[in-house]
Amino acid sequence: MEIKIPAALLQFKVLPKDDEERNDENIPKNLAEAMMVFYRTNANNGENATRMQACLDAVLDMYKTGPSGNNRVDIGQAIVCWACGFVGLPENLDAIGGSIAEIRENMPPFAACRNCHMSDETNFIRVEHPQDKTQAMPFVALKAV
Ligand SMILES: [Zn+2]
Repeated sequence: MEIKIPAALLQFKVLPKDDEERNDENIPKNLAEAMMVFYRTNANNGENATRMQACLDAVLDMYKTGPSGNNRVDIGQAIVCWACGFVGLPENLDAIGGSIAEIRENMPPFAACRNCHMSDETNFIRVEHPQDKTQAMPFVALKAV
């Protein structure tokens, strides 16, 4: 099977929750690695890779074209969910806040997945700006209904 993983996914960095995770080489450092792991392990019969791909296509598209005037969007701190492959804004976005600067490591409230509603297998992600790695790109998603 040929797997095509867009280079842009290297910009999506996984933020470890604590030192244990930071030193754990099994935790992907970015979503390109995560996608490889999902494909290699065929996680949830391939559903995780498919879901992650769809979520990332949506946000990459949003970065490319900008939100259309008809769509209401949410902006905030995005997560990856290892249980189901979801990438996007957490279900409890309001409790989490909008900025990485406000997030304290290893402290509740933990981010809950919008797809599977679990919070024990999520990590925050940081999207690096393609031209300037010191800058983070805001994560934009269509407003949840
Ligand atoms: Zn999930």
